[in-house]
Amino acid sequence: MTVIEKFRAIVGEKNVITEAADMQAYVTEWRDKFIGRARAVVLPKSTEEVAEIVRIAAEMKTPLVPQGGNTGLVGGSIPFMGADEVILSTRRMNKVREVDRLNGTLTVDAGCILADLQQVAEENGFIFPLRIGSEGSCQIGGNISTNAGGVQVLHYGNTREQVLGLEVVLPDGRIWDGLTGLRKDNTGYDLKQLFIGAEGTLGIVTGAVVKMYPRPKYQQVALAAVPSVDAAIEFLGLARAMSGDQVTAIELIPRICVDMVVRHVPNFTDPMPARYDWHVLIELSSSATPDLAGLMERILAAAFEQEIVLDAIVPASDAQQQKLWQLREEISAAQKPEGGSIKHDISVPVSRYADFIREADIAVRKIVPGFRSVAFGHIGDGNVHYNPLQPVDMDKEVYLSHWEEVSRAVHDIAVRMRGSISAEHGIGRLKADDLVHYKPAVEIDLMRRIKKALDPDGIMNPGKLLK
Ligand SMILES: Cc1cc2nc3c(=O)[nH]c(=O)nc-3n(C[C@H](O)[C@H](O)[C@H](O)COP(=O)(O)OP(=O)(O)OC[C@H]3O[C@@H](n4cnc5c(N)ncnc54)[C@H](O)[C@@H]3O)c2cc1C
Repeated sequence: MTVIEKFRAIVGEKNVITEAADMQAYVTEWRDKFIGRARAVVLPKSTEEVAEIVRIAAEMKTPLVPQGGNTGLVGGSIPFMGADEVILSTRRMNKVREVDRLNGTLTVDAGCILADLQQVAEENGFIFPLRIGSEGSCQIGGNISTNAGGVQVLHYGNTREQVLGLEVVLPDGRIWDGLTGLRKDNTGYDLKQLFIGAEGTLGIVTGAVVKMYPRPKYQQVALAAVPSVDAAIEFLGLARAMSGDQVTAIELIPRICVDMVVRHVPNFTDPMPARYDWHVLIELSSSATPDLAGLMERILAAAFEQEIVLDAIVPASDAQQQKLWQLREEISAAQKPEGGSIKHDISVPVSRYADFIREADIAVRKIVPGFRSVAFGHIGDGNVHYNPLQPVDMDKEVYLSHWEEVSRAVHDIAVRMRGSISAEHGIGRLKADDLVHYKPAVEIDLMRRIKKALDPDGIMNPGKLLK
């Protein structure tokens, strides 16, 4: 029997796709940046089926590429090593196994869509705080495997902080049942942390216990114009101190991003009454402070006094608040029609955020004079999406031919500031060379040993993360 026939015997004929046309969506990354090739796509329904598939793959040395919603932006879920690889998609594994309201946890299949989990949490009076632009299609297994971030990390932490227990099918086909909902467990190595952010290179996450949080009753957003990025950082400190740490999100939005959104999103107008260079979108959440609008006004008044805020809008209705969030959420899409951009997902200590943007701008200008600086994102986490845009009159391909040189310069600055070359999106295929270049040799050696110990034949997502 061939490996494909064996997979069919486990999951049924129709759950093994081998036709090229039917596999297209699975081998193409969200931005079309990576287009790969696969021998087949296999769609198991349960942990036991995953385990059987992996046992056979191990026996027949067939490489597996785990795939969730395929929204990762670094090519991690796309096979590219040749025609031998089989994609294991978790899309049929989408059950919420248990809602434990007293423990404040959800036990879920890896293939649950993030937005569905948010909804289940809400229906039970809680929130699941992971909020990212791809939430309508990414899956919790993918979020765990990439340690996804998003807009509320400042308050709730990354995915890593949301996971209490995991169920993983190991590269030899054994099932590790670590599905505890414990908040305290000091019994040795915390193995689940190995699989979080491992990008499918150490095993297949099949289930998880994740935390829910009490749903805040009140929420207030404001858009503030600030004179500089340094002022934005100071404003963050002030808002956290004055609110008793009720800041759940704070996003930096430069002038160029407002202009792009206004240009490319139908019927969207600049919400501010005048043109400003820098803005922050700030959100406060609470169940104990009904008058959050009043609190926001007081914070803004104090910031105005200190000249770290120039102007602000505090919307009265939910619809107006959503409109402000739309400004932030449309930035990536609005940048596309502006031409080529060289994307970076940097984090630095919050205190170095402004320095980073300044230094990166100088470095990129030396390589491509006339480029347009686009730097926005989760300022409270020190996470900057630094996506320098091509000069208006330059050919896109000519601009993009500078990708490596620009990236090296930008990453050098981040690393010099003890920052990271991948704050949120992971390494995948895109940054596998950079990882080896920037991480200390000792760290790479430890990572390789762990990989070898768990996956000696290298069948789990080969060529990703660690080359
Ligand atoms: C519009 C948009 C906005 C985004 N915004 C954010 C953001 O704000 N913050 C952020 O962090 N990311 C963001 N992302 C990136 C992406 O959505 C996240 O990385 C997400 O967590 C990926 O989930 P997924 O289910 O799509 O995983 P996939 O893309 O399918 O896979 C990602 C990686 O995880 C591995 N994997 C997937 N499922 C499993 C599993 N069950 N077991 C083992 N390995 C697995 C894959 O092999 C791959 O290496 C955004 C993407 C888009 C398109």
